[in-house]
Amino acid sequence: MEKRDYYEVLGLSKSATAEEIKASYRKLAMKYHPDRNPDNKEAEDKFKEAAEAYEVLSNPEKRKQYDQFGHQGAMGGYGGQGMDMNDIFRNFEDIFGDIFGQQGQQQRRKGKKAGPSPKRGHDLVKEINLTLPEAFSGVKKDIKLYHFVPCTTCDGRGMPKGAKAHECSECHGAGQVGYRHGIFMYSQTCQACHGEGFTISDPCPTCKGQSRVQQYDTINVAIPQGIFDGAELRMQGLGDAGVFGGSAGDLYIRVHVAPDKKFKRVDDDLECSITLTYPQLVFGCQLDVENIDGTKESIKVKRGTAVGERIIIAHKGFHKVRGSGRGDLIVIAKCHIPKNLSQEAEKLLKEYSDLIGTSTQEEEGSITSFFKKFLR
Ligand SMILES: [Zn+2]
Ligand SMILES: [Zn+2]
Repeated sequence: MEKRDYYEVLGLSKSATAEEIKASYRKLAMKYHPDRNPDNKEAEDKFKEAAEAYEVLSNPEKRKQYDQFGHQGAMGGYGGQGMDMNDIFRNFEDIFGDIFGQQGQQQRRKGKKAGPSPKRGHDLVKEINLTLPEAFSGVKKDIKLYHFVPCTTCDGRGMPKGAKAHECSECHGAGQVGYRHGIFMYSQTCQACHGEGFTISDPCPTCKGQSRVQQYDTINVAIPQGIFDGAELRMQGLGDAGVFGGSAGDLYIRVHVAPDKKFKRVDDDLECSITLTYPQLVFGCQLDVENIDGTKESIKVKRGTAVGERIIIAHKGFHKVRGSGRGDLIVIAKCHIPKNLSQEAEKLLKEYSDLIGTSTQEEEGSITSFFKKFLR
């Protein structure tokens, strides 16, 4: 963004007096003050722009530089990236003290660092492993959790009743301390208050002034029926407790469902297979299959069922997690091939084979016998 002329920003001429500059800035600062324009980016920009102009023009040295060299001259020696809100309130305390009174000014200037301010606790993630039958029927699981909970000794205040937090004397509430090394200015986290901006002279002995303590908990979680692999359950407020009365984070339970030997989930359908004898496939039959939860389902294998055919038992699959209803249970037909037959069964099967004209001569091989048929 092109920087506007500082005199223009304050609506003044180049010959304006120090009093005029101050008065003009006060007017703009009041107009665009963030307390009066909450969440207004444009007002914030105007507020900053005015502050920057005032910072330069209210300082005789900087003003002289600016008058001679423009923005380059004024900002060149000062780092020139504009000021943040805290700088503005800190630097122009006299102005804001006048406008908003000492009380409001104090709070504004220190902002969040003035004392313990509530902060939301972290979200936590826990993994949970389920079997497919557990996912099918739903299950209650105990989850062990190491998390922050509000300190009960001090009711989450971090200090006994009546005690107060004080602004850190090292950093004056900023949480950061600056130091100069050569021409550079550095800032680092204040060691005295660990960046909090305040100190508690008489902290709660249980939480050491942290307002919360870390402990193991066991949480019993009801996993709903139909839960799928990769699902994430949100348990509101069961993450880390907030600090100084902030809201608690959430606990996310990430669900893993192990594959099952007999059953397979496909969307909300449940697939399994059933092994039938050749005559059962040919003639059809009625029989029971066991569902994944142990319940019996009666199925009808119709006459002339092919291997791989899907027998559908409606609404006996997974419960839908969203909405109502269930998927289907799908039973896939397989054929049982016996390795050993009784002599009589073998004789009858050969007769049957001869009857329908298929060759079963193992020693000759199927390909040879196939060609023999044509050569004969
Ligand atoms: Zn400090
Ligand atoms: Zn405590």
